[in-house]
Amino acid sequence: ALERYASIRETPCVTGCGSRIGLFMNAGLMADLPSLQNSGAEGVGLFRTELQFLIRNQMPRRTELAALYARVLDAADGKRVIFRTLDIGSDKVLPYMKPNDEPNPALGWRAIRVGLDKPGVLRMQLQALLRAARGRPLTVMFPFIAQAGEYRAARAEMDKAIAREERLGHVLPETIEVGTMLETPSLAYAPDTFFREVDFVSIGGNDLKQFFFAADRENERVRRRYDTLNTSFLSFIERIAERCNAAGTPLSFCGEDAGRPVEALCLAAIGLRQLSMRAPSIGPVKHLLLRSDLAEVYDVIDTARQRGDQSVRPAVMEYLRGRSA
Ligand code: PEP
Ligand code: MG
Repeated sequence: ALERYASIRETPCVTGCGSRIGLFMNAGLMADLPSLQNSGAEGVGLFRTELQFLIRNQMPRRTELAALYARVLDAADGKRVIFRTLDIGSDKVLPYMKPNDEPNPALGWRAIRVGLDKPGVLRMQLQALLRAARGRPLTVMFPFIAQAGEYRAARAEMDKAIAREERLGHVLPETIEVGTMLETPSLAYAPDTFFREVDFVSIGGNDLKQFFFAADRENERVRRRYDTLNTSFLSFIERIAERCNAAGTPLSFCGEDAGRPVEALCLAAIGLRQLSMRAPSIGPVKHLLLRSDLAEVYDVIDTARQRGDQSVRPAVMEYLRGRSA
C-alpha cells in the first residue's frame, strides 16, 4: 500500500476546496519509526508509550526511557511527536504489576487514574521525556482525562518535574506543550476555561465511541452495531470541534477511524484539521482528501441529519459514487 501511494507521499494534504489537513501517524515501537519517512506522515500524532512497558518483563529505568525517547525524537528529525504518558489498565496489563481484578476494567483504575494515584511511574516518565527533549520541542499528552481537575493535577506533576530539572541545572526542552486526550463524553462538557487552558486536545475515538454508545470496543458483537458515522456521534464530535475552535485550541483525532478514508473525510468535513492514524492508512486517506470538497460533504452530512438518518454513511457513499460516475 505504501508503494501505491508513493506519488503523493510528499504532497501536502490540501483538499480540493483548499483546507489543509495534517496527517500524522500513530506509533509506539522503535520498529514503527521508519514509517515516518516512507508514509508521508507529518509527525507522530500519538506515541503510545505503554508499548515499551508492555514488551519488557520488568519496569524500565529512567535512563533507559530517556535514551529511547531521544532516539524517537532523533528519528522524527524535527517533526512533531506527541508522547502520550502511560495508558495501562483495562486491556493493557503490565506483566510485572499486580493485576487488580476489577469487574469492569474498561471503566476501572486505568491510565491517568493510576498515574495520579500512584505518581511514581508518571514522574519518572515525565523526567525521562524532559531529558530526552533537552534543547528541542517536547509535546506530551495525558490519557483518559475525564474531568478538568485530573488534567490540572497531571500538569502540576509536569510543572514539578520541570522545576526539578531546573534545580539540577539541566537544559530544558526548547518548548513544552501539554495536551489532553478526550476519551470520555464527560470531558466534552468541561467548562470553557478548561478548553482554554489545555495546549491541545486529541480525541481518542476508540474509547470515546466505546463510552458514547456504551459498547465494549473489544466485543465484536456489540461494537459493530454502532457506526462511527452515526449522526449522533458525528454531531457530538462536531460540538467538540466547535468548543476547541472557540477556545483557539488545536484539536486532533487519533482513533483507528481516522485511518478509514470515508470516516476521515467526514471528520474533516465537520471541522477536524489533524488526523493521526496507522502509517499505511495515510496514503489512502490523503488520496481521497486531495480530491474532495469539504463544504459539499458537509452539506451531504447536514442534509442526512436534517432528514433524520441514523447514520450519514449511506448518504455520503451515494454522494461519492455519484461523484466518480
Ligand atoms: C483511543 O482510545 O482512541 C486511542 C487512540 O487510544 P488507545 O486506542 O490506545 O486506547
Ligand atoms: Mg484510548
